[in-house]
Amino acid sequence: MTTIPQQIIYVAARMFEWRLTDLAGGNISVREGNKIYISARFSGSKKHWQLSDEDIISGDISTDALLEHPRFSREGRAHLAIYRTFPDVGAVIHAHPFHILPFCAAGRSMEPVLEQTEKFGITPLLPYAPAHSPKLAENIVAGLRGREDAIRKQAAAVLAERHGIFVAGKDLWATIDALKRLDWNAWCILAQNSLPPAPAHLAS
Ligand SMILES: [Zn+2]
Repeated sequence: MTTIPQQIIYVAARMFEWRLTDLAGGNISVREGNKIYISARFSGSKKHWQLSDEDIISGDISTDALLEHPRFSREGRAHLAIYRTFPDVGAVIHAHPFHILPFCAAGRSMEPVLEQTEKFGITPLLPYAPAHSPKLAENIVAGLRGREDAIRKQAAAVLAERHGIFVAGKDLWATIDALKRLDWNAWCILAQNSLPPAPAHLAS
């Protein structure tokens, strides 16, 4: 693929199309050296995830200069904290996925139930902190700590209560792939509640 902003634009459109986020929020960022590229504030509510080059903000990771940018995403603070703490993270996605939000609403961590999600381990529910707060960024970093191997392999994620998911991965493709797998994992847990017992001749 082409430039980093174009890659983010592509992933943003797919993320919305696949119901991995809603119009209320979410953000996608990529690290290149000491630079972060991130989808702008209101990408969902005002742009419906149809982004163009001017909707991708960039700036230094090591300073707080971006926090003053009028279009810097309110959850961008968490992205910066993740990049500063984990040198192997190449991309971060925050999202409000259709099948994962029930876990956030219920205040419940999510266990892997598929072979394809085993490598992420348990996706823990973080202690509550309000959206956009420095405390939430702190909790996200704490929830990812000790999971560097999973990040180097693909990604690790945490759940914010009554809010959504944060996924940190080795690159953008690994990260959107992890988000999609975790959403299907969530669906498999939810669906088991509506699955009737197997008829006698199929019971093992
Ligand atoms: Zn959010």
